[in-house]
Amino acid sequence: MSGASGERRGSGAIVDLSRPSGEGALAGGGELTVEVLVIGSGAGGATAAWELARAGHEVLVVEEGGDYVGAALTGRDGAMYDQLYMERGGRSTADLAIAILQGRVLGGGTVINAADVVPIPDGVARFWQTKHGLSDFSPEALAPFKAAALEDLSASTPGERQINANNALLREGAQALGLRHEIMMHNRVGCVGTGTCLIGCPMNAKKNARFVAIPRALEAGARFFVRARAVRLDDAGAEVKRVTLRTLDPKGYREERTLTVRAKIVILAANAIASAQLLLRSSVGNEHVGRHVMLQPQLPVTAFFDREIRFFRGIPQSTAVTEYERLDDPDRGFWGFRIESIAGTPGIVASMLPKLGLPGKEVMSRYAHMAASLLLVPDAPNGTITVDRAGNPVVAYAMPDEQKARYRDAIKAAARVYFAAGARSVQVPYARPLLLESPRDLDRVDALGFEPATAPFISAHQQGSVRFAASPRDGGASPEGLVHGARDVFVLDSSGFPSSASSHTMTPIMTVSRMLARRIAARRAG
Ligand SMILES: Cc1cc2nc3c(=O)[nH]c(=O)nc-3n(C[C@H](O)[C@H](O)[C@H](O)COP(=O)(O)OP(=O)(O)OC[C@H]3O[C@@H](n4cnc5c(N)ncnc54)[C@H](O)[C@@H]3O)c2cc1C
Ligand code: SF4
Repeated sequence: MSGASGERRGSGAIVDLSRPSGEGALAGGGELTVEVLVIGSGAGGATAAWELARAGHEVLVVEEGGDYVGAALTGRDGAMYDQLYMERGGRSTADLAIAILQGRVLGGGTVINAADVVPIPDGVARFWQTKHGLSDFSPEALAPFKAAALEDLSASTPGERQINANNALLREGAQALGLRHEIMMHNRVGCVGTGTCLIGCPMNAKKNARFVAIPRALEAGARFFVRARAVRLDDAGAEVKRVTLRTLDPKGYREERTLTVRAKIVILAANAIASAQLLLRSSVGNEHVGRHVMLQPQLPVTAFFDREIRFFRGIPQSTAVTEYERLDDPDRGFWGFRIESIAGTPGIVASMLPKLGLPGKEVMSRYAHMAASLLLVPDAPNGTITVDRAGNPVVAYAMPDEQKARYRDAIKAAARVYFAAGARSVQVPYARPLLLESPRDLDRVDALGFEPATAPFISAHQQGSVRFAASPRDGGASPEGLVHGARDVFVLDSSGFPSSASSHTMTPIMTVSRMLARRIAARRAG
């Protein structure tokens, strides 16, 4: 069941094109003209829509997902991955080595994310200025937009009572070893600790795009079409662009009808895979589109304790061990690695553990004694996106040896932390599972070669596919987000980031989207 479709505020409205009530949008021979068309309603799209509507522009946002809020977010693994995730959670690199997780719902990834709020570090902004020629991205220029993002998110640090046992023991282990660590800010207000953040919050406690930017954009007159997929962009060099949309059925499985939207300004904010995909399938943009892709693959590790941890209760991800990360590496920007606690609902945990059948069942019988973290390793632009004949994205990714070495270092560091916190064992999910029973076993980690599809890597922070660059020789879009070779077609999501913006991408995307959307509005006004 969908959430609040049909919602109206001010002169704006959410229209579900899969329902008979959405038929009005298809009147006039299925053709529509607007001033600004935003593709995607997540961190980047919702923020841009709000800014541009507020500045008096006529804005239509199209979103291929449905609208799920409150009780419609049932907490049931299968149904929620099916409805809230891109390709039902099954998207991956072409070699199946890395699962690519992305939201597909009104509000995008902000609806299903872990609600951690980490802004762009100043070192990264300076790196973008000096190495990538983005002269307008100084820490000072970004500061007001960063502050506005934190305000939108009602960012705060979780209180001590909100740190669950899984996160507390990572902190305990880090403290015992004298490692730098932090409690991350989050965007929850009124959280009751159900632990189901990654399949949506039934309490509507996340101050995300669905509950901040989208209502404000509606009040400013923006319209949102849900179950509407953009499939092609034509006349990208003309004053009026033509975007072909397909409506989807109520569950988003099938394309149904065709609608054409004409718009003077097109904002791509469909995420770093889909924005590049749309440009590629429309043959718009230069040779950099689809290159320089970063997936920031994360590797889960689990630890078992004699006592019950019940990591599935409470806020899943609040502690980070930051000892090994660099925020201002002169050649890379954000680099090194960090360790962050995480929890999963039973379905996803069972699917990631390297054991099946009875052995898998035996591991899951110790679910309550399990602790887990993600090893977050920022990457260089090692990936590419192309499209197949049907227009689907094909993501290729080659992991260099240097990056594999950082995963091995990160596994050892996490294992030391867990043993310092009293773990009985640490399990590295791998094709041949590696069980470490004491710090003396750490050398065994050196044997992990990370050949494709031997470890359950997860990507939640895709970036760089249409990277901003001062010159078309170096990137797919200008520092203003304008797609090279097109007229008034902008990318306002993480596609533009020339290096990893941060350990978490929602806040950086909101920051940059607002800054660039304001510039677009100011130029139109001038
Ligand atoms: C499991 C998970 C956990 C995460 N945890 C955190 C976290 O704790 N903190 C953090 O900062 N970041 C986190 N992230 C990352 C963050 O949520 C994303 O980087 C961010 O939401 C991306 O914003 P976006 O605007 O680029 O795209 P999205 O938010 O992904 O929105 C894009 C929208 O466009 C729609 N779309 C795609 N193609 C089309 C099309 N052709 N036509 C119409 N609509 C289309 C999609 O359905 C989607 O809803 C997490 C991500 C995931 C997947
Ligand atoms: S832990 Fe809090 S924010 Fe997450 S789903 Fe539960 S109530 Fe919502």
